[in-house]
Amino acid sequence: MDTQLITAIFLGILGAMVGSFLNVCIYRLPEGGSIVFPASRCLRCGAPIRWYDNIPLASFIILRGKCRTCGGPISLQYPLVEAAGAMLIVIVYFKVGLSFDLLEDTTLLFILLGIAVSDARSYTIPDGFSLSGIALGLLLCFLPGGITPLESVAGLLVGGGSLYLVALLGEYIFKKEAMGGGDVKMLAMIGAFLGWPGVLFTLFVGSLAGSLIFGWINFVLRKNKLVPFGVFLAIGAGIYTFAGPELIAWYLSLF
Ligand SMILES: [Zn+2]
Repeated sequence: MDTQLITAIFLGILGAMVGSFLNVCIYRLPEGGSIVFPASRCLRCGAPIRWYDNIPLASFIILRGKCRTCGGPISLQYPLVEAAGAMLIVIVYFKVGLSFDLLEDTTLLFILLGIAVSDARSYTIPDGFSLSGIALGLLLCFLPGGITPLESVAGLLVGGGSLYLVALLGEYIFKKEAMGGGDVKMLAMIGAFLGWPGVLFTLFVGSLAGSLIFGWINFVLRKNKLVPFGVFLAIGAGIYTFAGPELIAWYLSLF
């Protein structure tokens, strides 16, 4: 086998392990619990999950999605997030190779994945994801390649500031909280990783996709669902990470 394939397999396993850790964070961060203790337990019967039943992807398949102790179903979220983690890191690897960009891009994408699943599950964007993401974004911009520290700080301010203004305005007009603080911190985090052009792209794509999909669900299907805005911000920022500058150049060439 050639080295590129071996590296991709190794990174895929690493990505699945990060996905497994993200699952723990997704369940525990909203409750404010520790993400290290206690060890993983079955959510149904409380039996501790032994290490050999806790291998990303493989254990779910071997156990056929059932707890070894009580036979209760294990959420599909576990293997899906693990598989998504593996895929994200491998796709970015094939785009940018073994580089600092790989570290920066996948760090952001993993945090976005964690936030998107949390927001879709429970309409919460845990500070554990967004605030530690802000710290990581400000740290990683010092590495060669990617954006400069100045661009990172500017992105942080534009990201946090723009949604904060929207939140203030919404409160003034609707006399109630229109935008959660979680969204503000999340967009600040995205800005710290992508700079202010990335923030504007994320806001544009995220709002457009969110209004189209939830407009359809709420008006055409006549449901009354809250929009998990974090999911759409994650999609916008994810697209920018993969192809943002190319898409912006294409969009501007239309005029
Ligand atoms: Zn069980």
